[in-house]
Amino acid sequence: MRNDRYSTRVNKMKASEVRELLKLLDQPDIISFAGGIPDPALFPKDAIKEAYSALLDENAGAALQYSVSEGYRPLREWLAAHMASLGVACSIDNIVITTGSQQALDYLGKLFISPGDTILTTWPTYLGALQAFNAYEPHYDRLSPHGNMTPDIYRQHATTLGGEVKLAYLTADFCNPTGETLGREERLRLVDLAHELDIPLIEDAAYQALRFDGERIAPMLALDIEKHGGIENSRVIYSGSFSKTLTPGMRVGWVCAAKPIIGKLVLIKQAADLHSPTINQMVIHRVAEKHFDEQVEKACTAYRNRRDLLLAALERYMPAGVSWTRPEGGMFVWLTLPEALDGAALLAQSIEEIRVAFVPGAAFHADGSGRNTIRLNFSLPGAEAIDTGMARLGELIGRQLRSEAA
Ligand code: PMP
Repeated sequence: MRNDRYSTRVNKMKASEVRELLKLLDQPDIISFAGGIPDPALFPKDAIKEAYSALLDENAGAALQYSVSEGYRPLREWLAAHMASLGVACSIDNIVITTGSQQALDYLGKLFISPGDTILTTWPTYLGALQAFNAYEPHYDRLSPHGNMTPDIYRQHATTLGGEVKLAYLTADFCNPTGETLGREERLRLVDLAHELDIPLIEDAAYQALRFDGERIAPMLALDIEKHGGIENSRVIYSGSFSKTLTPGMRVGWVCAAKPIIGKLVLIKQAADLHSPTINQMVIHRVAEKHFDEQVEKACTAYRNRRDLLLAALERYMPAGVSWTRPEGGMFVWLTLPEALDGAALLAQSIEEIRVAFVPGAAFHADGSGRNTIRLNFSLPGAEAIDTGMARLGELIGRQLRSEAA
C-alpha cells in the first residue's frame, strides 16, 4: 500500500531499529540486560490458578460476561484503599481500570493531544510512552524537574511549533530507563508547573511499589492533593499497573485522577474496547487482596540482590570515564559512556563479538540525543550472567576507548 493511503498519524509511528535488533536475542548464548520484564519465577502462579478456578466454580456467569467500562467494582474499591495508603484520598469514582498502563498512555494521548500540540517529558523518558503519544502527532519539549524552565518559555516554544502545551508526562519513581527517583522538592515544583500551565501531569507509577531501600516519597498526586485541597483540584493523573508486582500477562492497570478526567477516559474506553477482561480483573482483585504485600516484598528482595550484584560488577569492570545511576528500586541502571562512544554501534558490536545485549539510550530521547548512553536491566539475569556480562562489556568498552584514543 502507498504510504499516503495510511493516516498521517500512522506515518508518524516508526518501527524502532533497536526493537528489531533486540528481537534477535532469543539465542541461548546471549547474555541479555536488554529486557524490561519481571522475573517469571516471581509470578504468583498458584494463587492465580486457584482464583481462576474458584471464580469459574462460583461465579462463571459474571466472570465470563461483559462488564462495565469503569472496571470491576471490588477491584476499584481495593485500589481506592491502596491509593489511600499512598496518601491519595479518593473514591472509586476517581479510578478506572485499564488493560495495562500502556492502554492508559494511549487513552491519555487521545484525550488531550491534537496534532501539533506539545507534550513535556524528561530526556530520557519511557520509550513506550513516546510510542503511545506519537500516534496523536505531538511535538515534545524537555521537562526539567530541576526548574530552569519557566511556564512562559514552555508556552513560547509550543506556540512556535504551532500548538499549545497540553500535557506533561514522567515517571517519578525508578524511571524506565534511568532508574532515578525524583525528590519531594522536584515533585512539588512539577505540580506547581502543571497548575501554572493549567495542564495535566501524568505520573507514570509502573514501578512505584518496587522500592528496595531509601525512604518512600509521596506520589505527586498525593502532594498535589495536600497542596490544593483534594483530588478534584489536582492536575496529576496517576497511572498504575499490576504488571511489575503481580503479572504483566493479565494486562491490568488503573488510572486515578479527578472525576471529570476519569469520566472522559471511561467514554474513550467504552468506544475502544468496552472494558478490560472481566475475569482477569476479578482474579487480580482476589490475588491482590491476599498476596499484594507479600508479592512486593518477594520482588524487592530478588531485585535488590540483583541490583547489588550489577552495581558491584560495574564497579569491578567498567573503565574510567563510564558513570552510572544507583537506583533505589525498579529494574534499571543507566550508563553514561564517554562522548566518543555510540550506544547503538556498541550494541551491534557487543552482540556480534561478546554476545551481550542492552538497550542503547538514544531511543528514549524524544529529540534523539543521548547517543552515548545505554540502559541495563537487572530484573532477569542471574548472578553468573551479571558478572560475566559486565566483565565482557567492560572489556569491550575499554577496548573501544583505547582505539578511539589511538
Ligand atoms: N510505564 C512504564 C514506565 C513501563 O516501563 C511500562 C512497561 N515496561 C509501562 C508503563 C507499561 O506497562 P503495562 O502496560 O504492563 O502496565
